[in-house]
Amino acid sequence: MIWNSMSKRTANVHVRTQWRPQVSSIAVSIFVALYLLLLMNRSFWSKGWLYLDGRMATIAFFGIGLAALYVALCVSLSVKYAMKPAFILLILASAAMAWFMDRYGVIVDVEMIRNAAETNSAEASHLITPAFLLHLLIYGVLPSMLLVWIRVRHQDFRKKLRTNLVVIFPALAVALIAGLSHAGAYAAATRAHRDWLPTLNPFAPLVTTVQFALRSSAEVNVVAAPIGEDAGVSDSASQRKPRLLVVVVGETARAENFSLGGYVRQTNPELSGKAIYYFRDTTSCGTATAVSLPCMFSVYGRSDYSHEKGRATENLLDVLSHAGVSIEWWDNNTGSKEIAARVPERSLVAREDAQFCADGECQDGILLDELDARIGAVQRDTVLVLHQIGSHGPSYYLRYPQEFRRFVPDCRSAEFSECSQEEIVNAYDNTILYTDHVLAQAIARLEEEQERLDVSLLYMSDHGESLGEYGLYLHGAPYLIAPSEQTHVPFLLWLGTEAQADYSGTCLKAETGPPQSHDNLFHTVLGLMRVETAVRDPQLDLATRCRSRLSG
Ligand SMILES: [Zn+2]
Repeated sequence: MIWNSMSKRTANVHVRTQWRPQVSSIAVSIFVALYLLLLMNRSFWSKGWLYLDGRMATIAFFGIGLAALYVALCVSLSVKYAMKPAFILLILASAAMAWFMDRYGVIVDVEMIRNAAETNSAEASHLITPAFLLHLLIYGVLPSMLLVWIRVRHQDFRKKLRTNLVVIFPALAVALIAGLSHAGAYAAATRAHRDWLPTLNPFAPLVTTVQFALRSSAEVNVVAAPIGEDAGVSDSASQRKPRLLVVVVGETARAENFSLGGYVRQTNPELSGKAIYYFRDTTSCGTATAVSLPCMFSVYGRSDYSHEKGRATENLLDVLSHAGVSIEWWDNNTGSKEIAARVPERSLVAREDAQFCADGECQDGILLDELDARIGAVQRDTVLVLHQIGSHGPSYYLRYPQEFRRFVPDCRSAEFSECSQEEIVNAYDNTILYTDHVLAQAIARLEEEQERLDVSLLYMSDHGESLGEYGLYLHGAPYLIAPSEQTHVPFLLWLGTEAQADYSGTCLKAETGPPQSHDNLFHTVLGLMRVETAVRDPQLDLATRCRSRLSG
């Protein structure tokens, strides 16, 4: 009886496995290598064609060399039990990355991964569209299922080692010879076009991910070293009104689409009615929130800044705290990126506000409600940082309410391929129009408090956005090759009556023309709050040098 059922089960297994083709581990490895290299590398090959000037022999040898390298790598991974999971991981990762590289011109560097790692689920969900899932199904899931289905023929360990080495060594030799054959051309092309090799899918992004993981684990226990402990407000608080400075940190607003800076469309109808100093040539520190934001508030300028240094040193908010200034960070975005680690941070994102919030995100009007509710409580020198959602894509249409849907037709989808170029730009311009409104309304609130407070507002965007120029969308391009659309940001200053009397308008006006940058924020905010400290660099402080009369 027992024997009977055993043999039946064996027979069943036999029938089932008969339908599963058996393939040698070497053949599977070669197939996966070629699949990854040829089908998952559209961006890499189209750039290669361009950067190698369409020289057939140069490209062919490059292709042969890379194919040999991919085969060597995949064969090295063809260890029993580890092989299928490893290949499935490579196929799924490369399918996902191919989508963003081919579709948005994304280049995966450490900063891009940091930004992705620090995003929230609502923000990430906008990138996961039905078209993306279909792409992942066809190029990732189906080949993976095929891989699960087939039976891989493995040899015993010794034999396998020998066979694998017989493939790996000649493959490496071929790669070396092919590489050397046109070494000069390859070296020149990779040097001249830094965006090329990082698109080699999936190995370049995977190496970058490992680098990011190593760096992040190294900074888990970093404690920020104090700076500006000598800071103090230079004039006595008892002889004047308390100062309130609202710093609005913008999101994804590019200077090209601000009519204050010369954009042909009227995207700043409300701000243009205010007495604004608009610094028209301002450069960002990074091209993504996770880079720009800590850099803006850091004592280091862009040329000295690194993520590690930023984390290891206190920032602008800490220096203001040392000076006795009250600080709050209000967040309608993905958090302060540790900038507000030592001061109160209030997240508005999860509010259940029927007017402004839905699906875990709020429109920036919620910041105005918060300002209404809390401005009355300001009694002493205070800096409020308002971190907007601004123009964050790709779902621009979610960023503004119906009444700001003025440039039409506007793209109503997170999937750019469903919209025309005009619709994408219209939706983006509506987000700028709404930011214009939010800033002007914040200024109006401050104006109402001028009787008891010395008020001012500073706005600076964290980075810009590509709207299809050079085939790029969104942001996050490596800084060295980023187009100006991603690094040229709006920066403006508004002063209340009290503050206006303290500053020379002619001097401030003169500063709006020459190049400024994120480097100015740290020092200018200290200047506006009259904080004296050794870490304030007068060269970068736009406020102090334009102060016309000294009081206190
Ligand atoms: Zn950003």
